[in-house]
Amino acid sequence: MSTPPGARRIDGRAIAARLRAQAAEVASALRERGVQPLLAVADPTAGDEGAAWYMRSISRAAEQTGIGCQIHPVDPAGRQEAVTSLLTRLSGDPAVHGVICQAPLPPGLTAAAAGACIAVAKDVDGANPASLGQLAAGLGGAFAPATAAAVIEILRAEGVPLEGRRAVVVGRSTVVGKPAALLLLAENATVTVCHSRTAGLAAVCREADVLVAAAGRPGLIGAAHVAPGAVVIDVGITATPGGVMAGDVDEAAVTPAAAALTPVPGGVGPVTTAQLLRQTAAAAWRAETSRIQS
Ligand code: NAP
Repeated sequence: MSTPPGARRIDGRAIAARLRAQAAEVASALRERGVQPLLAVADPTAGDEGAAWYMRSISRAAEQTGIGCQIHPVDPAGRQEAVTSLLTRLSGDPAVHGVICQAPLPPGLTAAAAGACIAVAKDVDGANPASLGQLAAGLGGAFAPATAAAVIEILRAEGVPLEGRRAVVVGRSTVVGKPAALLLLAENATVTVCHSRTAGLAAVCREADVLVAAAGRPGLIGAAHVAPGAVVIDVGITATPGGVMAGDVDEAAVTPAAAALTPVPGGVGPVTTAQLLRQTAAAAWRAETSRIQS
């Protein structure tokens, strides 16, 4: 869909290409030292169509970047321990540098319980509650969830100033909303987090210089939510009955006011995949550096 004059459409694919090039440089330097960076994916999804599509896109991007990607199917009908023991084994495998667990998870297995099995050093999608804790404590060393980190990378790539600016995040999940808020805080933005019980959502959103929509509600953010000149980052992805992916932002409605916005698709999604690979390359680099130093 073309955007009418007004908001600049941020090209997530171009930003992703630059981030993948950075990851490829690190991967190449590691291979010269005889180390093949490797991302391992535990896959308990039993052929879920959306998950299969996402894993194919990660595999393809990893291959183009010189990073290995191994998918490990695990029977979701089996006990939860089949998933948690696979994650624990992958975490302990010295050939593996990054570990993620693909959703949807088997019934009864929470994202926090699965994430807790991933060693923080290999937790390249920030799934271990301990990684989020380190982020909250401002300790560094742990990786943020790739989507939350992608939000910051987009703002950085677009030269959007954050220090002293008002940022509003709609959504408070541990995978997107909370870590995005923490990362914005670390950039010295003044951050407000909204959720389904927020009163007067539109008025709160209108205070934002940077508005991050991560609710998973197509069209939630309209003209009434966006102040003139705001930058709008749309994290939402919802599959519509027609098979089209919809964001949380009504692009046509916010375009007259916003300075810039990320489209869906082609915005946050590709940057998330690139950031996951960048974090995998960084994990491999850190592992190699500490091996040399020990
Ligand atoms: P989630 O766990 O369902 O969290 C949604 C959040 O939005 C919750 O905090 C919820 O509030 C809030 N919310 C729901 N309806 C709202 C409303 N009407 N007004 C204000 N807040 C509302 O979802 P998630 O995992 O964070 O994902 C959010 C979206 O991002 C989804 O569309 C998902 O597909 C997408 N996503 C995209 C990527 C990517 O790579 N682009 C990656 C991950 C996720 P409560 O806490 O009060 O329930």
